[in-house]
Amino acid sequence: MRLDELPPRDDFNDWYNEIVEKAGLTDKRYPIKGMNVWTPYGWKVMLSIDSLIRNEMERTGHDEVNFPTLIPESEFSKEAEHIKGFGKDVYWVTHAGENELDVRLLLRPTSETAMYPMFSLWIRSHSDLPLKIFQLVSTFRYETKQTRAFIRVREIHFFEAHTAHRDYEDAERQIKEDLEILDNLMRKLCIPYEVHKRPDWDKFAGAYYSLGIDTLMAGRILQIGSIHQYRDNFSKPYDITYEDENGEHHHVHQTTYGMSERLFGAIIGIHGDDHGLILPPELAPYQIVIVPIPKKGHQDEVYGVCNSLADELKAGGFRVHVDLRELRPGNKYYHWELRGVPVRIELGMRDMENATVMVFRRDTMDKEVVKRDELIPYIRNMLSDIERNLYERAKEKMKGHTALVENPMEIEEVPDIMKVRWCGDEECGLKIEERTDTSALGTAEHEEEAEGTCPVCGKPAKTYLYFAKTY
Ligand code: ZN
Repeated sequence: MRLDELPPRDDFNDWYNEIVEKAGLTDKRYPIKGMNVWTPYGWKVMLSIDSLIRNEMERTGHDEVNFPTLIPESEFSKEAEHIKGFGKDVYWVTHAGENELDVRLLLRPTSETAMYPMFSLWIRSHSDLPLKIFQLVSTFRYETKQTRAFIRVREIHFFEAHTAHRDYEDAERQIKEDLEILDNLMRKLCIPYEVHKRPDWDKFAGAYYSLGIDTLMAGRILQIGSIHQYRDNFSKPYDITYEDENGEHHHVHQTTYGMSERLFGAIIGIHGDDHGLILPPELAPYQIVIVPIPKKGHQDEVYGVCNSLADELKAGGFRVHVDLRELRPGNKYYHWELRGVPVRIELGMRDMENATVMVFRRDTMDKEVVKRDELIPYIRNMLSDIERNLYERAKEKMKGHTALVENPMEIEEVPDIMKVRWCGDEECGLKIEERTDTSALGTAEHEEEAEGTCPVCGKPAKTYLYFAKTY
């Protein structure tokens, strides 16, 4: 067995735990559990994800900010539901030097209670609205469940957008825009998703309603983001008001949009295979790796051609690396397949004579001989085809995993995503969760009407409720 050999992808948990370190994404040996080190290759991918998010935020008129990491307990406690929801998960700072603090401070688990005291100072009149800001920062949650790199960690690389609006309708328009941003992002990240309106018993602490952004990874649902409508639930305790055109004062309506490094976890888990990672072209630190196939006595010649090809490709706008290490080509193939590089070019003496190269694509593992003078447009097409293929094939796969279940109270084998007729009562939803050992994801984002009856109480069904095992 080779040192860097992977367990098969079918042993998903083992495979995942190994690949994140073997592909150079993270180092889990940092001496605080659940707080991992971002190593260079992984951090490059995360920064590319951030940059796609920044582009979308800029396009839609959000401004980037950076709030302090610490929040005073007095502000954190203002919204009752919020403190109830997060209270057990926070890290406290109780001392400064040798002195015990009068007001304890906490490491932000999310930033509502850091930002909203400032919003109440910033927002004065209707002309200050809408206020649209975001930040990309670390948040902290004391996770008690088993930690897992990028999926369940205690220091989380986090994106959060916060907006304030003059009324509920304008906040709803923001949520529509958030969903459009989501779709643009997910196509680039090649992550298929469903949006579910979470049931009331599982909405965000303090929200009026919550939309969960869900994807399917190895038979379980992974929540990769969420969008919340707060209405005026936070603006009342934080006293965030504006004066309208007639001199009257109103509380603002607010929304938030959150995503995290789980996006990275989803990319690893959804696309990876027995050979390792498969990175979407937009995110790959190297989109192309060139591997020289040296021949005795002609090594310098081959290396020279590889380097000039790399320069040509870089000038064409691609991120390229030439692997000149003293290793067999086969070992290099293995190394870069493991790290998910979308395209590999192999170049030897015979290719030089024929003015061709061998092109390998990671998503399908296909190889093809391509003429040197057609290479740049060929690769440009191939990269967009890889992006499309990764997204479409994952989307197809996710679709096939949802099934309507007539009677969840008697079912033996629960499908990955279970769709059930539902009367709308919390009690019935909770009974199904308990019986099937799943979590209710909620209802479809676009209201679905159901025929028939609720399988728990027998009352007419109002809609469908979705269930799955979750991470
Ligand atoms: Zn019912």
